[in-house]
Amino acid sequence: MCGIAVCIDMNLITKRVKGTQDVLPSQSYKWQFVEKLLSDEAKLCGYKEIRTPVFEHTELFNRSVGETTDVVQKEMYTFNTKGGTSITLRPEGTAGAARAMLENAVYNDGLPIKVYYNTSCYRYEKPQAGRYREFHQFGMELYGTQSPSADADLICTVDSMFKRMRITDLRLEINSIGCPTCRAKFQQALKDYFSQYKDKLCETCLSRLDRNPMRILDCKSPVCKQIAEDAPTVLDYLCDECSLHFNKVRELLDCMGVKYTVNPKIVRGLDYYTKTVFEFVSDSIGAQGTVCGGGRYDGLVEELGGQAMPALGFALGMERLLSLMEALNIELPEPENCGVYFIGLGEPGQKEAFRLTREVRNSGIYADCDICSRSLKAQMKYADKIGARFTVVIGDDEVNTKKAVMKNMQTGEKFDICLDERFFETFTVGFLK
Ligand code: ATP
Ligand code: MG
Repeated sequence: MCGIAVCIDMNLITKRVKGTQDVLPSQSYKWQFVEKLLSDEAKLCGYKEIRTPVFEHTELFNRSVGETTDVVQKEMYTFNTKGGTSITLRPEGTAGAARAMLENAVYNDGLPIKVYYNTSCYRYEKPQAGRYREFHQFGMELYGTQSPSADADLICTVDSMFKRMRITDLRLEINSIGCPTCRAKFQQALKDYFSQYKDKLCETCLSRLDRNPMRILDCKSPVCKQIAEDAPTVLDYLCDECSLHFNKVRELLDCMGVKYTVNPKIVRGLDYYTKTVFEFVSDSIGAQGTVCGGGRYDGLVEELGGQAMPALGFALGMERLLSLMEALNIELPEPENCGVYFIGLGEPGQKEAFRLTREVRNSGIYADCDICSRSLKAQMKYADKIGARFTVVIGDDEVNTKKAVMKNMQTGEKFDICLDERFFETFTVGFLK
């Protein structure tokens, strides 16, 4: 630009890393719109934003996400620093939020603690539609309440976020995976069941058989999936307390008119879950249809070295959400075009255009002027390209007489404006018409 021909650089020294994506200027408004909608809803429910580092000590994720999960076993970006410390790029947002909450004693501000985050996450997965190596999660975390009404409230909040986005084709699936007490019996039943298929299970699942057979239920291999079809279901093993909790959550969802199905196969991919788990799933975006996953993790805070504190939350995949909105043809409000473009000609004209642009911007209106020393024709072309609603040409005459003409680019209508102290008054008459 700037009088220099636009060059298409075919000799880039490198391209983006596999599994990452660029959000281009023509698309970023969609992200901004959705991020604002989500954070506005979170704030309406009393949640405040938390921002944590992109990397953490590796043991944080080993402990919280779980040693036998796919995330820890296969997907983490882990490296040693020059000082020899093992560091991991966050694969999810919950662990860092919990660590920060404990380390900074946020619980002293009173319970429950409600935080939300909007962060990038990193997982070394096979890139495909809906699955990237850098992706983004919007999530909410709620600490300090055991009550099933917290579970129901959280699920209702996600449901209402999707409704606000006019997304209709997501189905909510819920389950309870019990507490450590009922889990022990369930794990034993799974071990007995899967032991019959030792010769068929994938290698990872074989290693899980002793350590954490429930993880086999989350395996993506088609053979393991098939075997898991007839595995014992967790709901048959819930203790009285977990059963009661689950029933109460369902009652409250019914009472709020939130539609769901119980899917006893959901176990979620991370080890820290207890009791309620849920997913919002779509059939419109291909195989990676889970847009949002969450649930309760009452043991997580204690696992990280804090005092026992019940917790729950969810994470929503932004890329999947945006591709779902695209698939459903949900239009998002595009950013406003330039309000007024000042075309400066000659040095005095350019200076005046520069000054007026700043004045209009200071009043909160998108204004622009030439910063490439271009000709009248080229400036006109550019004003047209950025969709300027009005243009004002300012040359020597306009500077001398302190008068100019503002043109409505759509209707061709023209308005006289003054460039002296009456500028704003005269500008507004035309601009607001
Ligand atoms: P999946 O079963 O699809 O691998 P997961 O159980 O690993 O998902 P969570 O750890 O619960 O996912 O993450 C919450 C959400 O983050 C997912 O529902 C999804 O929308 C999104 N997500 C997870 N992994 C990826 C990825 N590699 N690329 C894009 N989005 C992802
Ligand atoms: Mg996964």
